[in-house]
Amino acid sequence: MPLISHAFFGGIPFPQQVEQKSLTAAKPLEDFSPSTLVLSMRQGLGEICTPTVEPGQPVLVGQVVGESSQGIQPPVHCGVSGRVIAVEPRPSADGEEVLSVVVENDRRNLPAPLLPEMTVHEPASHWIARMREAGLIGMGGAGFPTWKKYGAPAIDTVLVNGCECEPYLTCDHRVMLQRTDRVISGALALGRAAGVSPRQIIFCVETNKPDAAHRLKKAAEHAGMSLISLPDRYPEGGERQLIQAVLGREIPLGGLPADVGAVVSNVATAAAMGDAVMGIPLTHRAVTVSGQVSRPANLWVPVGTLFSDLLRYCGGENAPNPAPPAFWQEGKTCRMIAGGPMTGRLLERLDVPITKATSGLTVLPPQAWEEQNCIRCGACARVCPSRLMPFAIDAAVVAGKMPVCQDYGAVECISCGCCSYVRPARRFLATRVTLARNTLRRQMSAVKK
Ligand code: SF4
Ligand code: SF4
Repeated sequence: MPLISHAFFGGIPFPQQVEQKSLTAAKPLEDFSPSTLVLSMRQGLGEICTPTVEPGQPVLVGQVVGESSQGIQPPVHCGVSGRVIAVEPRPSADGEEVLSVVVENDRRNLPAPLLPEMTVHEPASHWIARMREAGLIGMGGAGFPTWKKYGAPAIDTVLVNGCECEPYLTCDHRVMLQRTDRVISGALALGRAAGVSPRQIIFCVETNKPDAAHRLKKAAEHAGMSLISLPDRYPEGGERQLIQAVLGREIPLGGLPADVGAVVSNVATAAAMGDAVMGIPLTHRAVTVSGQVSRPANLWVPVGTLFSDLLRYCGGENAPNPAPPAFWQEGKTCRMIAGGPMTGRLLERLDVPITKATSGLTVLPPQAWEEQNCIRCGACARVCPSRLMPFAIDAAVVAGKMPVCQDYGAVECISCGCCSYVRPARRFLATRVTLARNTLRRQMSAVKK
């Protein structure tokens, strides 16, 4: 199997990944369907959809319950059959109230009519349209509408990202093992949408998943595609890092993968595309529930499942075993993270729903340290894959000097968390650089308008 050597700047190896991922790597996807779904009308980046159903209305599996008025966000489909019990603002994982459709599950799984099945001879525009009507967004965490990525004129390579370099998470690993056929048919469909041949489609899998790589390689090569193994190094699965590592192309500052002729989609997105080819919209996804939980697991759940239901199904949080740290007794509770510990979001409450872009729930022991002054060691800059100086941006944010953050290129931060991970002074670097990035991006888009 061809092995690409580490070719992107910065990043960190995670030797402890093996142990963290081993909590769930061998756990097959289990079906879990909660009694209530909260379908947020904001599933990914950008606009909020408008509900297309009303309280009291019956709904079916696969039925559209929310649609975009501007046509950028794909529609939101329901993953259970039942009855709409509310259409109202509900708290979300990012701390804001978002208009949501709340559905009571009747557990009958009555299906809505499927979309027409697609045939291989259809033009690229039809495959792109299908991405939108089936509700596809990037399922690796970015949440960008998939159809917007495809259709650029000069794409020559599709990278299907199965790196899953984030600690603890193994849901993509299980999708590669258990939904191989859908990943393969979906990857071929992504290639048709991009206008490339199968030999221009490359699967990328880290070496810490040899079983998935072996299985996928066999199936990919049978269909004329290829698979490359990459060394375990976080954040290998970041779009920029992956393109650089596999193709040796560097995306210009402020640019997009299409600027260097590439497009990257996660394996879960590819599997959802495989479903879309058969006429099945995106209603479910794989999530990992891991860390300090009684029964770590990989679950196959409808979008809109509450984090609290995921945790309850997995037996709730448990104390570190065998040696709880001293601070465990202080009455602090575990940190609940939507996604993985590096790029995930700390949840303030658990009665919030997963979206199409949520890869898991990671439960970690409480944090027991305080920030100290920067000692100018430069470690954060050495690991930053975006070649930033996190210590300098941190100081500018603390001083309230946002224009300085722009000079330091904070908009290029990919929120990978590497700088926070190495911090000898325990500074909240990634949080502050991400804050600066988001503020600057908002200011830039307001100027454009
Ligand atoms: S790693 Fe921490 S202590 Fe070292 S330069 Fe960066 S902010 Fe300062
Ligand atoms: S500054 Fe941003 S891109 Fe750089 S290491 Fe920190 S989180 Fe990652």
